Amino acid sequence: MAYKTTYPYTNEILHEFENATDTELEQALANGHALYKKWRDEDISERKAILHQVATLLRKDKRKYAEVMTKDMGKLLTESEGEVELCATIADYFADKAEEFLKPVPLETAAGSAYYLKQATGVLVAVEPWNFPLYQIMRVFAPNFMVGNPMILKHASICPASAAAFEDLVLEAGAPVGSFKNLFISYDQVSKAIADPRVAGVCLTGSERGGASVAAEAGKNLKKSSLELGGNDAFIILDDADWDEVKKTIPAARLYNAGQVCTSSKRFIVLADKYEEFLEIAKEAFSQAKWGDPMDPKTTLAPLSSAAAKRKVLSQIDLAVENGADVVYGNEPIDHPGYFVMPTILTNITKDNPIYNQEIFGPVASVYKVNSEEEAIALANDSSYGLGGTVFSSNPEHAAKVAAKIETGMSFINSGWASLPELPFGGIKNSGYGREMSQIGFNAFVNEHLVFTP
Ligand code: NAP
Repeated sequence: MAYKTTYPYTNEILHEFENATDTELEQALANGHALYKKWRDEDISERKAILHQVATLLRKDKRKYAEVMTKDMGKLLTESEGEVELCATIADYFADKAEEFLKPVPLETAAGSAYYLKQATGVLVAVEPWNFPLYQIMRVFAPNFMVGNPMILKHASICPASAAAFEDLVLEAGAPVGSFKNLFISYDQVSKAIADPRVAGVCLTGSERGGASVAAEAGKNLKKSSLELGGNDAFIILDDADWDEVKKTIPAARLYNAGQVCTSSKRFIVLADKYEEFLEIAKEAFSQAKWGDPMDPKTTLAPLSSAAAKRKVLSQIDLAVENGADVVYGNEPIDHPGYFVMPTILTNITKDNPIYNQEIFGPVASVYKVNSEEEAIALANDSSYGLGGTVFSSNPEHAAKVAAKIETGMSFINSGWASLPELPFGGIKNSGYGREMSQIGFNAFVNEHLVFTP
């Protein structure tokens, strides 16, 4: 069976799930479409109360939901608990903001009177990854539930228990049948769903390969799509950076979620005169990481999400080294059945090294030495990705000027990365298109329906 939970700490299979049948997919589409039609004639007060109830249940059963995620993909229980809280915040935010976001928008025209309505468009297909098993769903579910777009979820095959738990949560909160349906479907069934006339669009968070494939299906069927893909985010330390703050930020920026965050800082760019000092700080920060049982609050480094993820990261380190990079810290084996990778620092990555333009989805930092701020900016931008990035400076104007020159969808000043419901999240270039969260994300699958009277 494709969908199963293998606990990354023990390598034990905990749950296996049958694939959904085409009949189940058809039923989900029919239920979703019928609900979309019904919701069009209803106000949002009932949905608002249900979404607040989702938040209440998440807070009440925080430990339960956190354990499901940790067992699915190995993240630290403390991080899973933080994720549950963030999900509750997102649910409350969109429940509270929907009325304002859905208000008709007046338009200025000398030719008459005009406004546009904001209306639902139909059933959405959401294809989500395992790295934040509940948050990734909530980012798209909460706004679209309020818009009136029912959702069918195809979650990553390694975190099926989280997908099932999300569906149970939504139903327990009182959401009507059809509003959210988790289906353990194949790639072919995803394509079939995208092609179905009852489906209005698809959003995917994941790899470039997965994104390109799903977006091609959407394009072929003239469906709207939104893609949140990988990143190779730069962490630029300017000459006026507060060094103590840099030091404090490194562990969370690179090692949070065992480094499996799309917006993790992956490339550290340092001016030559501070390079050696930076390496010492980074080594010191990485040496503090304590790998172990993800359920133990004293553990600070989780295993990777799967045996395949571990193999991939180790093979990328090998590839970097075969092509001239140096390992200045880490990359030692950890003798444990869990999928641990030791925090590792790579240097001397030249432009012709294949790893120069690859995302490493694990606890590996690439450190680059530059001779000027201009060179730092050019290096940050010399990437096929354009998701996020960090600029460190104690001068806010200086930081803002540099941030504006970075070709990404998000810049974080004096901080590794952040995700809040009121802030748009997404990238440019091969990191995808469209935004999730905030009013921009809320509008992603809204029909802006013009009403004009000459
Ligand atoms: P992935 O292989 O693309 O998987 C993501 C999801 O897409 C999974 O549900 C996967 O299903 C599905 N999928 C892949 N190919 C598909 C296809 N052809 N048709 C239908 N579904 C398909 O991505 P991953 O490598 O597991 O996830 C990590 C990546 O996600 C990293 O690159 C990371 O940076 C990125 N990410 C981006 C963001 C963001 O907001 N920008 C956030 C988090 C992660 P299966 O599991 O069944 O293969």
